[in-house]
Amino acid sequence: MITVLIAFRQPPVGRSGPASLSRKLRPQPHVLEDTPDDSRILNGSFGITIYKMIPDIPILIVGAQLSGLSAAYHLHNEGINKDDIYFFDALIKGKASQNWIPGTQGPELPRHTKFVSVPDDSSYSSLSHSRILKMGAQQYLRLKRNGVWLQREIAEAFNKNLVRNLGTVVLSNPKDENKLLEEFHLYKELGFESTLNEFNQESIERVFSTSEKSFTRGLFVPDDFIIDIEGYVNALASLLPETHFLNGHIVDKIEDRTDHVIVDYSIKHRTGDQIKIEKQQPITAGKVVFATNGFFVDSNLRHLLRQYWNYVLCFKDEGKNTPNAFYFGRNGHYFTRQDNILIVGGEDTLVDKNEFSIPNNRDQALEKLLNWSNETFPKLSGTKPLGDHYGVFCETVDNLPIVGKFDTQRNVYYIVGCNGDGQSALSYSAYLLPAIMGIRKPRSKDEKDYIDLISPNRPTLRPR
Ligand SMILES: Cc1cc2nc3c(=O)[nH]c(=O)nc-3n(C[C@H](O)[C@H](O)[C@H](O)COP(=O)(O)OP(=O)(O)OC[C@H]3O[C@@H](n4cnc5c(N)ncnc54)[C@H](O)[C@@H]3O)c2cc1C
Repeated sequence: MITVLIAFRQPPVGRSGPASLSRKLRPQPHVLEDTPDDSRILNGSFGITIYKMIPDIPILIVGAQLSGLSAAYHLHNEGINKDDIYFFDALIKGKASQNWIPGTQGPELPRHTKFVSVPDDSSYSSLSHSRILKMGAQQYLRLKRNGVWLQREIAEAFNKNLVRNLGTVVLSNPKDENKLLEEFHLYKELGFESTLNEFNQESIERVFSTSEKSFTRGLFVPDDFIIDIEGYVNALASLLPETHFLNGHIVDKIEDRTDHVIVDYSIKHRTGDQIKIEKQQPITAGKVVFATNGFFVDSNLRHLLRQYWNYVLCFKDEGKNTPNAFYFGRNGHYFTRQDNILIVGGEDTLVDKNEFSIPNNRDQALEKLLNWSNETFPKLSGTKPLGDHYGVFCETVDNLPIVGKFDTQRNVYYIVGCNGDGQSALSYSAYLLPAIMGIRKPRSKDEKDYIDLISPNRPTLRPR
């Protein structure tokens, strides 16, 4: 019998990877027992042995925060070995929400500050009139609601103290009450509880100490909650102890090949105030999942994402903890009082030319937010904020996350696009990822519909 050896060309990998990866980083040619392509026929007929390269890393998740950790958690639940999952994060696992970007530390925010809630800063009634139309908005509302339930279930199973069941209030003034009514009907149509009689002008002022004319009506969504997000992502990480976390590892570029991905990366070293970035030899990964929010933009994402700065001010404000409050005004304001600190956010501004180190309009944006806070909370007017904080979120052209693989790709997946309220949407998207990657089947028609809704290939992402 003739034996011909065919080896797939190997990329230049693995010569100087980090010590902790060294065993894995040696690509080992390996006889493929079960290759489904045409070469298999040759193998059977002529005794040709086919070699296939085993990648250095089976699954690389880029970004070890809410999306990346949730993705790993669900991949593992569907049978992926924890030891096969590697994380690269330009920063530190579990710290992005609070510490992005280095140099932005304001005061310590209270731990329970994340709003894991149904509404986002453009209401579902607005979304119904946008590219995704009413059906898309309704599906998205359901998807996010599932994310809220899922996140609550995981958090409470881990530690009940991570969750505060305070609900959300969507506020309006007399000019935009109609929008609130439309919102109420949308919730009702889908069977979600929300009420319009709990928050009138008087109760809003009593609970939030807002000024007389600010808000006249509130739509209360009782099943929303506030979460200690850092506690939550670290809880997820602790459920994945055998997973490999590599902090300060920055993915620069990837090349998607037939059965693996070549990953160009650098390592960031910090000595005192000095940061040194060192380019490494590329490595290979079987699959790559980008859970990088708006920070990594390749040719696929270039025209689909817009990054914004979001600003937060904190004030000392004694009183009971309050629900999340959103106002769907032009500047996307939101606030809540947690642990005697009032947190007020909004005044989003575009990130300029991919400059993520510091916003060029920080002072003006914070001044506007301070003015709005002074007008809205007269009792705090004139008090100096305890501090400020700002971070980056990213928006997609149709306000839905981008989850899955572009048609042109083979081994690269994305779970990006938080649209300012990714806690619920990305948590549920991560649950869908194993189905999107073909590791499990979708469990229902609804799941299939959600997968289509957030697919990178959906028509609403295409330019018009
Ligand atoms: C101030 C502020 C307030 C917010 N409030 C809310 C809220 O109340 N409710 C809500 O639902 N959402 C809120 N959001 C959005 C929320 O932060 C996101 O939904 C969520 O944190 C996104 O998680 P993520 O894991 O997708 O991304 P991130 O937490 O941004 O993590 C992305 C990670 O990718 C890493 N990374 C990026 N590029 C690379 C690379 N090339 N190589 C290696 N690593 C890389 C980064 O270091 C980072 O750690 C807020 C955002 C901001 C900025």
